[in-house]
Amino acid sequence: MLTENKILYYLKHEVVDYKNLTVKELKQLRKLVWTLTSKMPCPSLSISAFLCRVGDKLSKIKDSVCYFCYARRGFYHMPNVKAKHQQMLEFMESKYFVDVMVQLNSELSFFRWFDSGDIQSLDMAKDILDICEQTPNCKYWIPTKEYKDWKTILKSRSLPSNVALRFSTPMNDTPPLDKAPLTTTVFTSEDSLGAVGVKCGASYKDKYECGDCRACWDTNINNVAYAKH
Ligand code: SF4
Repeated sequence: MLTENKILYYLKHEVVDYKNLTVKELKQLRKLVWTLTSKMPCPSLSISAFLCRVGDKLSKIKDSVCYFCYARRGFYHMPNVKAKHQQMLEFMESKYFVDVMVQLNSELSFFRWFDSGDIQSLDMAKDILDICEQTPNCKYWIPTKEYKDWKTILKSRSLPSNVALRFSTPMNDTPPLDKAPLTTTVFTSEDSLGAVGVKCGASYKDKYECGDCRACWDTNINNVAYAKH
């Protein structure tokens, strides 16, 4: 059976030969790459929120959506979480990122990019779109504040139809951003300028989870608004 170190080596240096992997080994690989949260109905992939470029600037501004960011606190400081984020960053920057993710996601229906973190470069964003294009049966939600990079990419290629790229508004209680593919907002009161579109119901449920809702992945929904918590 593969050891974790061997799998990490594969992720960075070799194309994994899936034909020769056992079901158990494939499961190991998914466990190593995917993040499973209690809120969402699907896996995601995350890197450190301390690497967010726009987010880092916003984290110092009171009333920004990144001030007191959940992904910079508590559980996210645990050594095993930090180590996984570093491994995933190296994997995403390796030349086998696309091939491996296409294999891992090929049978999924939904996937979220970045339950923490954001794109680090134009190349990373292009690789993500390549993966989305090569797994058309899976719907992808990409939340981002790296507006400039995404706008640069969208000048030369179209978004695949299975991708909900959502530009998150930088400040609480502000309207959705203009000239964005799709958007998200954050509101602190029901009469806020940010309380528009589909309001996320997760925070109103007994359990903080999506349940049957898939609004964030739905490309027919222009804005999803989240209550500040
Ligand atoms: S809007 Fe729906 S899909 Fe999006 S986070 Fe909230 S419950 Fe989940």
